[in-house]
Amino acid sequence: MDIARGIDGVFERGDSERFTGEVWLRSTVAAPDGTNLGVVHFAPGARTHWHRHPGGQFLYGIAGRGRVRSRGDAGHVLEPGDVVWVAPGEWHFHGGAPDAPLVHLAVNGGGPPEWGELVTDEEYGEGFPA
Ligand code: MN
Repeated sequence: MDIARGIDGVFERGDSERFTGEVWLRSTVAAPDGTNLGVVHFAPGARTHWHRHPGGQFLYGIAGRGRVRSRGDAGHVLEPGDVVWVAPGEWHFHGGAPDAPLVHLAVNGGGPPEWGELVTDEEYGEGFPA
């Protein structure tokens, strides 16, 4: 059994190659197949760049309010208790709401994501009510 205690949590600032705005990540434990669980804190308006996960990704909203959207799809306002499954290979982003921070849990399958371009302000707004 492998336990990552909250009190021992180490947070890393999300870098500008992968994120826009202030983002803090806590990595925890990984399974032998590369599946891992992380906790991500986004400031309002902060978000990932476009990216995709080789084994897909579960997101679970813990606190605050945020945004998640796959390329070409309608956006979803991510709220505490929401569970989202992003399929393998699906380009998407996630982050805080314009007016609220977000904390989400992420379960990532199949190793590290592939990173693409940053999410512009226009793309961040597309698919969400103004
Ligand atoms: Mn993702």
